[in-house]
Amino acid sequence: MFDTVLIANRGEIACRVIRTARRLGVRTVAVYSEADATARHVRLADAAVCIGPAAARESYLNIERIIAAATATGAQAIHPGYGFLAENADFAEACAAAGPVFVGPPVAAIRAMGSKSAAKNLMARAGVPLVPGYHGDNQDAGFLADEAARIGWPVLIKASAGGGGKGMRIVRGAGEFADALASCKREAAAGFGDDRVLVEKYLERPRHIEMQVFGDAQGHAVHLFERDCSVQRRHQKVLEEAPAPGMTAERRAAMGKAAVDAARAVGYVGAGTVEFIVDAGGDFHFMEMNTRLQVEHPVTEMITGLDLVEWQLRVAAGEPLPLTQEQLAIRGHAVEARIYAEDPDKGFLPSTGRLLHLAPPAESLQVRVDTGAEEGDAITPHYDPMIAKLIVHGETRERACALLLQALAQYRVVGVANNVEFLSRLVACPAFAQADLDTGLIERQHGFLFPQHAAVPREAWLAAALAELLREQAAADSAAQDTADPHSPWHRRDGWRVNLGVSRRLTFRCGETTKALGVSYVGNAYRLDVDRQATLASGEMLPGSQLRADFGGSRSAATVVVAGEKRHVFLHGRCFVLAAVDPLYHAGEGGGAEGGLTAPMPGKVIALVASAGVKVDKGAPLLILEAMKMEHTICAPSAGTVKSFRYAVGEQVADGAELVEFEAAR
Ligand code: ADP
Ligand code: ADP
Ligand code: MG
Repeated sequence: MFDTVLIANRGEIACRVIRTARRLGVRTVAVYSEADATARHVRLADAAVCIGPAAARESYLNIERIIAAATATGAQAIHPGYGFLAENADFAEACAAAGPVFVGPPVAAIRAMGSKSAAKNLMARAGVPLVPGYHGDNQDAGFLADEAARIGWPVLIKASAGGGGKGMRIVRGAGEFADALASCKREAAAGFGDDRVLVEKYLERPRHIEMQVFGDAQGHAVHLFERDCSVQRRHQKVLEEAPAPGMTAERRAAMGKAAVDAARAVGYVGAGTVEFIVDAGGDFHFMEMNTRLQVEHPVTEMITGLDLVEWQLRVAAGEPLPLTQEQLAIRGHAVEARIYAEDPDKGFLPSTGRLLHLAPPAESLQVRVDTGAEEGDAITPHYDPMIAKLIVHGETRERACALLLQALAQYRVVGVANNVEFLSRLVACPAFAQADLDTGLIERQHGFLFPQHAAVPREAWLAAALAELLREQAAADSAAQDTADPHSPWHRRDGWRVNLGVSRRLTFRCGETTKALGVSYVGNAYRLDVDRQATLASGEMLPGSQLRADFGGSRSAATVVVAGEKRHVFLHGRCFVLAAVDPLYHAGEGGGAEGGLTAPMPGKVIALVASAGVKVDKGAPLLILEAMKMEHTICAPSAGTVKSFRYAVGEQVADGAELVEFEAAR
């Protein structure tokens, strides 16, 4: 085994690799960008080297700097994690040239699978079934349109070099093809430095089922069963589970064989994943092979009891695979949920900002939290907005889902928009609970997953008010201790005021609803009036913003986190964001332009689609912004006229910047 391994990554996966290396007695070296100087992965590692500015291109993608860091620290191996350089053949080659072992497959295998098109041609020759499509070199727009028509609508245009669900367009008819192709090629060029695409049949209601494979340098290859990753948004996984519900032993054996054949066809060594798309009839087709550790590998670890990073390090050090196919078995069921800083109500738009409060559920044998983020860290537009992965293991799928719901209900994130509540609804939704899975589940369950602004329960208003009062009291108590006369009436929190009565009001707002709660002081308790009904409330604030309350004789446990004027009330697995309203301040609400004419996040203008001075219909695309490696189209909020564009193509814009001067038609 190696003495020292360098991890060429950040975030949760860097922390994950460090954990196993440490258990094996291997010294770890982290690399970090200037933005990550105090990040968790840097603190966990035995040594850390700064490799450049925040932008990934200048740090986590800087091959020269990373190799230099490995040489300087005596690292004998480099683990690339996933994303960044994990599937970069030039990086693997540079490692080989400089000395350290690249923890991954041979360069030739990365190259063979690096292009989705080339990989498909190779798999067709190896007898692995494919989705019908065109995977050739001809990139002429007219030719591709003809191919699409031949394949039959709908088709999917995919960046050959793509990944992470980016660089894909569904096209439902000939009329949309040219625009979709241009946009897909732009995103591919910007995101992957390669604008080549393939076109294939778009399957309706398919499932994504992938096989974990492993090979060693001695020529052995096994599969570690499947993962079902059908629950996706924007072609990217949100929930992943193993084993796949409804999988028969025969189907598993057939998919396992196809996956091992695929790996053998390219002389595979190390961890890899062969992704299949399974059509409604149950036939499976090769989609792509990811030549690295997969984000969702923990579900496989949970059901096999193995540590895949340990296997990777052993194989990279030249050891044979620890187990044979016959020795591998499945135990129980595991589900992973990806916790993202993103706003489900705004099309899962990534959110940036500081994690003002971050409290994951407690870990146990059944509950695992893989994270690289801590309270106080910022989610920036430079990197992936994933905050953590929450993984649970149960004897059955039903058990695992129950545990996941419980753990999600305990998860508290404040400071950035996040998908925790959405995930709870997703796990609870009947289609998921019944394992009626396919990649369209989220869209189909829209009504259940995006309820119309659910009413805030009375208990949440009470909790917000009580937390406010208890905090005021604590602040007054500590101020009293600091002054000469601790008995001064000015420190009394029983509503005593010169010339004032003993009652006051606390006002909170949630969406359109504003409630003024009457507060009067009754001994050590408060009488809170909401909607002309009184409740006697008492309680205490515990560390971690936890409120233990008694409302009219019934106990209540909530977490009430303060962020500016916002009060995030976590109650019974849901989160209500109430704003504390200062009654002396009556500014107009939400002054900014409605309809998304402002930048939803920091980014770069990459195309002006409309022209200044021209009348457009409601919903017409006006300009395209690139942010977080994706394209976002800014559309007209109503029929009207574009007066002017505030930015030119290529210009960087800040979060909230006004992009277009727009005049709505009367
Ligand atoms: P990436 O490299 O971004 O992971 P994939 O080729 O693996 O790209 O596809 C990502 C997702 O897109 C799949 O999991 C699936 O949901 C969807 N997808 C891909 N190909 C097809 C297809 N031919 N028909 C329907 N959906 C598809
Ligand atoms: P998988 O196919 O393994 O499920 P995805 O394609 O969904 O993985 O995600 C891989 C993506 O993860 C990369 O394209 C990148 O955007 C993102 N990523 C890379 N490094 C990290 C990291 N350290 N933490 C979180 N996300 C990362
Ligand atoms: Mg994929």
